[in-house]
Amino acid sequence: MKATLTVLGSGTSMGVPTLGCECSVCQSNDPHDRRTRPSIMLEYAGKVVLIDTTPDFYAQAVRENIRAVDAVFYTHTHADHILGIDDLRPLSYRHRPDKLPLYARPEAAAFLRRMFAYIFDADYKFGGLPQLELKPIDGPIDVFGVRFDPVVVIHGEMQIYGYRFGSAAYLTDHSEIPDSSMQQLEGLDILFLDALRHKPHPTHSTVKNSLAIVDRLRPKRAFFTHICHDLGHEATNATLPRHVRLSYDGMKLEFDI
Ligand SMILES: [Zn+2]
Ligand SMILES: [Zn+2]
Ligand SMILES: [Zn+2]
Repeated sequence: MKATLTVLGSGTSMGVPTLGCECSVCQSNDPHDRRTRPSIMLEYAGKVVLIDTTPDFYAQAVRENIRAVDAVFYTHTHADHILGIDDLRPLSYRHRPDKLPLYARPEAAAFLRRMFAYIFDADYKFGGLPQLELKPIDGPIDVFGVRFDPVVVIHGEMQIYGYRFGSAAYLTDHSEIPDSSMQQLEGLDILFLDALRHKPHPTHSTVKNSLAIVDRLRPKRAFFTHICHDLGHEATNATLPRHVRLSYDGMKLEFDI
């Protein structure tokens, strides 16, 4: 089945430009150096599936003219991946009397229920609530005819999810990928990996580390995301192998899902 993947955001948690920073990347005129918080959109079979809803989701949805959302997968519950959840509100109404499904690791679903109690607590009364339903997942799930496989990755002290869908996989925040998860990532056409910067970080991957993952897994194409202001787009791409690129906001890929 044909699918389109759109990069809604390619930046790290603080975004690029980073507020208050006057470095050359934050002051760059290259639109590729403007990175909103990390998320992607998948379109296939007339459906729209998001991975994460960032604090920039509203602006991303306006930019990409998103008119409907049919499901959301969450990688984990750090603020840069979830804070756009309330902006699903107008897009959730068309699902009534059903609700827009949100898929997440069980611990992440429980956290979302607590953090956004006003949405999920049926006793909490005020108007205009997003119509959302949490669906904890601990294994593969079929969504609109496509199998989504959670891929467990280590993010500092936490275990979180990346996802494989058909011949593509999206891993946003990882300091380590366990061997059991590496096995789930063989034979990919498209692989997204965390590449925060060059300098090591306790909860994120570096360019060098993610290049080593690409060498081991040998996807046809790899794209880096969750990028901070240490990496200028053009200058960094010039140092990467041809089949590995920094992703950027608005980038679109066609693939067989
Ligand atoms: Zn993050
Ligand atoms: Zn900067
Ligand atoms: Zn995170």
